Amino acid sequence: MTDFQALGLSEPLLRAVSAEGYTTPTPVQEQSIPPLLAGRDVLGVAQTGTGKTAAFALPVLQIMSRNRPQGKRKIRALVLSPTRELAAQIDERFHAYSEHLDIRHKVIFGGVNQNPQVRALQKGLDILVATPGRLLDLINQGHIDITHVEFFVLDEADRMLDMGFIHDIKKVLKLLPKRRQNLLFSATMPSSIANLAGSFLHNAIKVDITPKEVTVDRIDQKIMFLRKADKRRLLVKIIKQERVECGIVFTRTKHGANRLVKQLDQSGISAAAIHGNKSQGARTKALAGFKSGSIPILVATDIASRGIDVDGVTHVFNYDLPNEPESYVHRIGRTARAGKTGVAYGFCDDTESGYLVGIQQLIGKEIPVDSSHEFHFIGAIPKPGQKPGKIKDPNAPKKKQRNRNRPKGGQGRNSGQQQRNGQSGSNQGGNNRSRNRNRSRNHRQRDD
Ligand code: AMP
Repeated sequence: MTDFQALGLSEPLLRAVSAEGYTTPTPVQEQSIPPLLAGRDVLGVAQTGTGKTAAFALPVLQIMSRNRPQGKRKIRALVLSPTRELAAQIDERFHAYSEHLDIRHKVIFGGVNQNPQVRALQKGLDILVATPGRLLDLINQGHIDITHVEFFVLDEADRMLDMGFIHDIKKVLKLLPKRRQNLLFSATMPSSIANLAGSFLHNAIKVDITPKEVTVDRIDQKIMFLRKADKRRLLVKIIKQERVECGIVFTRTKHGANRLVKQLDQSGISAAAIHGNKSQGARTKALAGFKSGSIPILVATDIASRGIDVDGVTHVFNYDLPNEPESYVHRIGRTARAGKTGVAYGFCDDTESGYLVGIQQLIGKEIPVDSSHEFHFIGAIPKPGQKPGKIKDPNAPKKKQRNRNRPKGGQGRNSGQQQRNGQSGSNQGGNNRSRNRNRSRNHRQRDD
């Protein structure tokens, strides 16, 4: 078994890591830290929960603390992250790992007053963690200079593209100095990400921690077939029967999340929603309530869930099955953390059976079916030989063509009617193309 010392980390970092209680590097750390310390670029296929933040933060800190240029601090490491939550968590990790180093770091994101951020920038920083929109705003206002960056990290690159950030990323890349070390992390590797990686990584080491390698053994997964109209009643029943005190419910849309919170409330269950349309204050409050145990149920959309890093989640409900199989693995990984066990329920209605096929293909096994509930509906079970992807809902009201000019509140990869053929990976290039077409300022403002 490798320990952190064997990876070549310096003493101040070893002390910080040990204070965090880490004894063994995770696979992504084991594979990324040595090449990064040796100055190589790294392309990492890994999700949140694999320990990827430390995989890049530790070598960045080590390289930066080798020499500190005299005079006012200049931004020497730039980390781009798609959401505020994730950016804040990365910054919090830098704080923990740089405990014994003379390194100054700061996170900036949109949706909050820029003045405190500007003041911190004026004092001088070594490491900046940012969401793309606020970064470019402050660069344009002359508050940020990224021409001295030696280390560039693009985190959650697939989410970045889903959220329409590709042009912002390209703008940032143009402003960076040519000589620098690069790191790109993505949970998935569709061709759009591979192309982006190819455009700025040089001779990168590829580190692949695919979802199959993510340990989900400790998660008791169950699929329940039912009609859409019965989902709420089944959810309430399970929450009450199993006395769920720390559970996350995933919905496909922000509107669906809000509605469900109200419905749970009417059933006497306290819940809060977390998604990109909520203000930063509301999101922080919801997360804090959930972490402290005063709110037992968090209702989340995929994008907002990226940053939820809460130990002790006992239940995950896929109230709507995700149309991207990788999201399923990511969602259920919110439970069974830190050595604990967890239960993941998947509610599958007759329009979602194709999604289930895609998920099972990705994880390489059939998820056990629980038909012992009163709402069991055989019409939702995938047909023999059914292909992965969306099944049209014959009862769904005909929607107007929303894609062309998506109004405020579009939910990235989950809101569109794309994904008819949601097979893992193969159609993602197409979806990204369509997503890119649909990109708009409104869309971007959701999380930035
Ligand atoms: P990340 O994938 O970076 O979001 O990390 C997920 C969680 O794993 C965070 O709570 C980290 O503090 C934790 N973590 C990271 N590396 C290790 C490690 N080597 N041992 C134990 N926990 C870790």
